[in-house]
Amino acid sequence: MDKHDYRHWAHKAADWGADYHETIAERPVRPQVSPGNFAGMFGATPPEAAEPMEEIFADFERIVPGGLTHWQHPRFFAYFPANAAPASMIADQLATAMAAQCMLWQTAPVATEMEIAMVDWLRQSFGLPDTFRGVLQDTASSATACAVLTMRERALGWKGIEDGLAGGPQLRIYASPENHSSIDKAVRIAGIGQKNLVKVRSGPDRGMDPEALAQAIAEDRAAGHLPAGVIACVGGTGVNAIDPVARIVEVAHAEDLYCHVDAAWAGAAMICPEFRHFWEGAAEADSVVVNPHKWLGAQFECSVHFVRDPAALIRSVGLRPDYLQTLGADEVTNFNEWSLVLGRRFRALKVWFLLRAYGLEGLRTRIRNHVAWAERAAARVAAVPGLEITTEPVLGLFSFAHTGGDAVTAELIEALNNDGGIYLTQTQVDGRFVIRFAVGQFDTTEADIDAGCDLITTYAGKVG
Ligand code: PLP
Repeated sequence: MDKHDYRHWAHKAADWGADYHETIAERPVRPQVSPGNFAGMFGATPPEAAEPMEEIFADFERIVPGGLTHWQHPRFFAYFPANAAPASMIADQLATAMAAQCMLWQTAPVATEMEIAMVDWLRQSFGLPDTFRGVLQDTASSATACAVLTMRERALGWKGIEDGLAGGPQLRIYASPENHSSIDKAVRIAGIGQKNLVKVRSGPDRGMDPEALAQAIAEDRAAGHLPAGVIACVGGTGVNAIDPVARIVEVAHAEDLYCHVDAAWAGAAMICPEFRHFWEGAAEADSVVVNPHKWLGAQFECSVHFVRDPAALIRSVGLRPDYLQTLGADEVTNFNEWSLVLGRRFRALKVWFLLRAYGLEGLRTRIRNHVAWAERAAARVAAVPGLEITTEPVLGLFSFAHTGGDAVTAELIEALNNDGGIYLTQTQVDGRFVIRFAVGQFDTTEADIDAGCDLITTYAGKVG
């Protein structure tokens, strides 16, 4: 394949993408396949001789689209959405065409300076103060891992990165039981260990109890442990639990602990001033992560990681060997030093396209609609005989269950997902198996919500 072929196939890929999006609603949201379905389709050995692009593309069309769960489907109500607004997809195509490597300022000067500007646009969009700087990480998991490493190093006086952790104090990190598993993963890979992640008791509204946090820290100090940081959650993945961030930051800072806020999904809603009470206090935290690749519409991957003290982050995860120096410009921003990885894609471009193509007002309208439609959907589901709401809508998410018990609820979700007209996922609420309904896909309309509720009504009458 040469440069001329690239033009031809790039056009073909763009046409294919447009057709895919125009017809996506006709596809089942989740493919009806079993594990191992595709394993034998790729040939056991790599080809020795070049194959024509016609054949490669034909195989792509034959194998891939029918084997995907369609995250851009308007009746995708599972997990949290991973939206790709068309303008951000175009930006990502351009980024792919340029294939820039944005590890240093000098390897991508405009990308670095655009990233600084886009982080600041996002900061303003979410109503955060200008004391925050930031970086576009690949995922919230990476941002949280960076935050936990910063907590660890700050608590150890930056000795862990040199000496390792052997023989050191037992570090402790605090989070609510509703926090995402990326926090568990971060404490594991930071060498702190799962048993040193203290899951602080939550109150009746599922938010972390600040008094219980203060008590846990005091008990740990008395036991000779070394408290290092607290992670507050705004929008837990299960049922959107919201921690009282202002109180938690207050407790953390009174104890001289670093406080990180995970608002991976719910943070996008903070572009609407009326929802900012959900994270009141985030402005005082040491770092905050929000995923524009979830609800906001920036094509995956795109996670904005705001930090109050970039120097602490860089000191914890950054390295500058000889071959990464920018001669004569030591003070430029080199975003690899803010990240776990060296190589970085040109993520700022999709944020630039997204915010300009829809404007904050356009994005706010979508989020406000989703929140209103989640409330409407919950009211409809509550009226279905045999179903009950298990957690009321918080922003775009609520959960429900069958009154017949866990086995019937499991039967219901299986039947709905096998139908293909809708896709939902499950979680546990107070030991009960429940179904989550997450509204937030970029192209969802009110008619899609109605169609989803109709299906739920139909299948609720058939199970049990
Ligand atoms: N935090 C929360 C609350 C989440 O819901 C998720 C993913 O759904 C994450 C973190 C991890 O996000 P990512 O896939 O960007 O690492």
